[in-house]
Amino acid sequence: MPDDCEGPAKDVAHWTDFQSVRGDRNVGEAMHSLASQIYPICRSITGDGVRETLRILGERVPYQVSEVPSGTAVFDWTVPQEWNINDAYILDASGKRIVDFADCNLHVVSYSTPVRTTLSLQELKQHIFTLPDAPDVIPYRTSYYSPFWGFCMAHRQLEALADGTYEAVIESSLEDGSLTYGEYVHPGQSSEEILLSAHICHPSLANDNCSGLALLTELARRLQSIKTRYTYRILLAPGTIGAITWLARNEERTEKIRAGLVMSCVGDAAQLSYKQSRRGTALIDRAMAHIFEHKSLGARIEEFSPYGYDERQYCSPGFNLPVGLLQRSRFGTFPEYHTSGDNLEFLSPSHLADSFDTIVDLLNILDNDRRLINLAPKCEPQLGRRGLYASVGGDSEAPKRNMAMLWVLNQSDGDHTLLDIAERSALPFQTIAAAASSLERAGLLREIESRPNQINSV
Ligand code: ZN
Repeated sequence: MPDDCEGPAKDVAHWTDFQSVRGDRNVGEAMHSLASQIYPICRSITGDGVRETLRILGERVPYQVSEVPSGTAVFDWTVPQEWNINDAYILDASGKRIVDFADCNLHVVSYSTPVRTTLSLQELKQHIFTLPDAPDVIPYRTSYYSPFWGFCMAHRQLEALADGTYEAVIESSLEDGSLTYGEYVHPGQSSEEILLSAHICHPSLANDNCSGLALLTELARRLQSIKTRYTYRILLAPGTIGAITWLARNEERTEKIRAGLVMSCVGDAAQLSYKQSRRGTALIDRAMAHIFEHKSLGARIEEFSPYGYDERQYCSPGFNLPVGLLQRSRFGTFPEYHTSGDNLEFLSPSHLADSFDTIVDLLNILDNDRRLINLAPKCEPQLGRRGLYASVGGDSEAPKRNMAMLWVLNQSDGDHTLLDIAERSALPFQTIAAAASSLERAGLLREIESRPNQINSV
């Protein structure tokens, strides 16, 4: 057996190269185009809209689709009846459609019970939602868990309605059926998993929904071309009830989740915003802070709170998974949120691409963080003799690379991971990881354990 210190290391397959996954010029356009394809579909927490969305996304990536019957108990919840809708409109006294589901699916309160009734303007107003402070946009409303029917419209249009009789028609159905979610699994060397998730239950809302679905699908497509250490699970499930259903059916699997990220609102012009996991100091929390420090000027980090998207379920105390939330504009804080103003013009390919690259940088850290030990720890090894010391004048990156090697050698005492070293040296993780890879190849470092155990590290 040759000594590990001699010659190039035989096995340097520890390095997962995410560069080929990172966005090229086309990635933003590809995501915007995919978001445009699924934007018109009327999705809800159950029903054909979710299936149709998964069918379109499934043309890019083979999502595995699960159907969970109505009535299935999932922790403290029950999978609801399935909701579908064919048509909905309001007719004025002359028979003219003044509100039409075919024009915009936000016009109907999601999960509206079927109705066909004639009523006065005053009575109709009991079933109409508007935004007086934003009189030109249509709000988005739902009534999942209490039977109701209603319409949403621009406040300015409501104010212009004349007294008289109106006919309200909603051709919907609420029947036993199933809840649908989709998963794509990219298998890695390890069965330990990174969970990436977005909700798939909003109708025509671009940033708050379509952006996350498009990003994850493009990411899944590109992951297919590389070998990773971790297994990556991409989960597209209806908000709240979908995540709860998945957790109820996959409780054992959650023990394998080493990190997770929920995403939504990833295509608008605001700076990135990351909400920490409930743990606050999990590897994913540290990795995102590191990325923001080095590349995302103005990006914000928020502490965990038990409100938001499906991180609420993943971070409930019975699971306490290391799952954070990535957004650009934060939900509930931008004027277009949950209105017809959240449309395709609100998304830009360049901001989608920036979100995409940030997530790839995150996966790069998660997949490549490891602990190595210096095999020549007594004084500095001679780097020049091994061709490692970059001394060529004019190479502006050379001093940084040299510093990274010195930091890696000095800190690789068995106690520190590469992310620890990147944090302490204030050098980007990628620079530290590349230096470690060179030193490993030269036989100066060896990985000493497969992975820091992030479950027990906090
Ligand atoms: Zn929403």
